[in-house]
Amino acid sequence: MKLVSFVEILLLLEACSLVYAVNNSDNLSSNFPVIVITWNYKDATEKAWDVIYNQNRSALDAIEEGCSLCEAQRCRKTVGFGGSPDEAGETTLDAIIMDGVAMDVGGVGGLRNVKNAISVARKVLEHTKHSLLGGDLATDFAVNMGFKKESLQTDESQAMWKQWKANKCQRNFWKNVIPDPTTSCGPYRASDVKDDESTPVGSEENHDTIGVLAIDSKGHTAAGTSTNGANHKIPGRIGDSPIAGAGAYADQDVGAAAGTGDGDIMMRFLPSFLAVEEMRYGATPSAAAKTAINRIVQHYPNFFGGVIALNRKGEYGAACNGMPFFPYYVANPTLGPKLFSIQCSNFNPECYKEGKIC
Ligand code: ASP
Repeated sequence: MKLVSFVEILLLLEACSLVYAVNNSDNLSSNFPVIVITWNYKDATEKAWDVIYNQNRSALDAIEEGCSLCEAQRCRKTVGFGGSPDEAGETTLDAIIMDGVAMDVGGVGGLRNVKNAISVARKVLEHTKHSLLGGDLATDFAVNMGFKKESLQTDESQAMWKQWKANKCQRNFWKNVIPDPTTSCGPYRASDVKDDESTPVGSEENHDTIGVLAIDSKGHTAAGTSTNGANHKIPGRIGDSPIAGAGAYADQDVGAAAGTGDGDIMMRFLPSFLAVEEMRYGATPSAAAKTAINRIVQHYPNFFGGVIALNRKGEYGAACNGMPFFPYYVANPTLGPKLFSIQCSNFNPECYKEGKIC
């Protein structure tokens, strides 16, 4: 009798686990694969979605192809060639791709004269033991890997640069230098006189890195970014986007996150890493992104930027600061590609003007 009850219990347990498996696979099929992308980059989202869903390819492929399309289309002129000229009029590129299964990263910072930043980053991931290559020598690496060396300048980026020069090089990223960087072009030299600590903030024109989070149909998690960085940056500047934990982060056990906005400030707080860690300890993606944003706000209330987050259940969310709103795309089998938009904390229209100091 005792034995029979034991068998019955076993059968009952098996039946329960079957029901659980069915429910679970229902969830899996409706939540995966999944893509989350910063901003309203519709074509890039559709491309990444086509790769990961219709073609059933990997999260890394979807990230590379989505970002590559944005680079080729020069999304909002803040991704790819011909945008954000630096003080010398040159466009340079930053990108990262992170494999959350291998916990391996490939990045390029300040990449010169090669248009395919995300694909070069993927070569760093797949063909080197390094995580980040920079500048001219990253160009040499790219050429060795078969990429074409060509100018990233366009007539438009040259015109932007000339206009900036004509406008006394405003805005720029100098402080504590002579001559006064708020009224004059350089060359500058170091000064002991401390400038006002206020920070130039964002506008429609100077942010919009593409960040892509993906979980493919095998459940593999990855993240990536691509950008031409900050408009009128000091030559040599590398932003947050190619830095693991700042621009993007992925961990197979937890999920992924990516950031966009004022990278000089954001990279000091590793917001993508923080968002993933928050999710590790149980926060929802929205709450995790909010915590990452709030950590920065404590020190820089007017900073502009956004964070997107995705957990291993396929749940997603975002948070932002200093802008009116932050759009982002999600694609999964239930939604297809769908645009979301959230309101940001601390939006001040007066601050949100090109060149404005707040
Ligand atoms: N975070 C990028 C950078 O500072 C720019 C952006 O996302 O808008 O390079």
